[in-house]
Amino acid sequence: MAQVTLSGIAKTYPNGFKAVHPASFTIPHGEFIVLVGPSGCGKSTMLRMIAGLEDISAGELSIGDRIVNDIDPADRDIAMVFQNYALYPHMTVRKNIGYGLQNRKIPQAEIARKVAEASAMLNLDDYLDRKPSQLSGGQRQRVAMGRAIVRDPALFLFDEPLSNLDAKLRNQMRIEIKALQRRLGVTSVYVTHDQVEAMTMADRIIVMNAGRIEQIGTPSEVYNAPATTFVASFMGAPPMNLMQGQVRAGQARIGEVTLAATTAPDGEVTLGIRPEDIIADPQGPLSLEIDLVEELGAHRLLHGRLGGQPLSVHVGKDSPVQTGTLQVSLKPDAVTLFDIKTGARL
Ligand code: ATP
Repeated sequence: MAQVTLSGIAKTYPNGFKAVHPASFTIPHGEFIVLVGPSGCGKSTMLRMIAGLEDISAGELSIGDRIVNDIDPADRDIAMVFQNYALYPHMTVRKNIGYGLQNRKIPQAEIARKVAEASAMLNLDDYLDRKPSQLSGGQRQRVAMGRAIVRDPALFLFDEPLSNLDAKLRNQMRIEIKALQRRLGVTSVYVTHDQVEAMTMADRIIVMNAGRIEQIGTPSEVYNAPATTFVASFMGAPPMNLMQGQVRAGQARIGEVTLAATTAPDGEVTLGIRPEDIIADPQGPLSLEIDLVEELGAHRLLHGRLGGQPLSVHVGKDSPVQTGTLQVSLKPDAVTLFDIKTGARL
């Protein structure tokens, strides 16, 4: 178990492409950190540099009190869980889980004890003599977890481990992985493009965009106080509504419609409002034009326009469903202002 520190870590690929711009952060011992961002943002490159599978172009990486830039992946005391499980098809579950230990010449009795412990933890006892082809996707992913657990590593690295599973199994496995990580207390770095996984699993989230870190924070910080319009639109489904507006004399507005009081200086701004911070309210001061109602069972999404700009409203299943004009009010502090040029929160 260990703290991980990245100081100015960067990656330039041999063709000159800067996949990761200098990044610095510390992952305290036992923390579950999630790297999230769209395809190509550099999150796998970052993980692979931590794993030692990719050379570090600049900066210093330490795991525990060791600088590991030049240390072989096998000697970094890490265990990785991949999207494709990477199980040996000809070996039983028992052999797959214990294989890494066998290679390290650990005594048979100890291997058997560790495999039994991991198998009990992962509910794999009934499958130990099966081959991977006789398992479901979720069971295979558990075997991959088992193989990581028995190594007793200082650090778990997860590279989109749930991407191959169907939605229901993904939900179940993310709860299992999170619970297991809590129980084992192993520092973990988890890469995903799925913001729901990031929100539900992370102690802290690192949001990446085009090779740069946009924000580091707890799920609640990232969701409630996005540092940039990129974070605001990436985290949340549907994302925060972003509209072009103005600040005039202490009022944030869209055209003639005033949305909130603000201390920001006069000028053009981007206004952000979360869909759930808009309340259907017959006495409300704002008129929306609703074009489309999406029925989602437990709630509804209304898609419409305010001052000609698109926006979504998240309402309960008992709220109005009709298209046309809808009066709404905003929850207190619903409006977040961003710099219209840089996208940074004001
Ligand atoms: P995904 O979710 O699609 O895997 P990612 O955020 O993990 O995306 P990376 O795999 O880290 O992205 O890639 C970051 C960027 O670096 C991408 O634009 C990719 O095309 C580029 N890249 C990756 N490997 C190389 C390479 N060997 N040479 C040049 N560019 C590369």
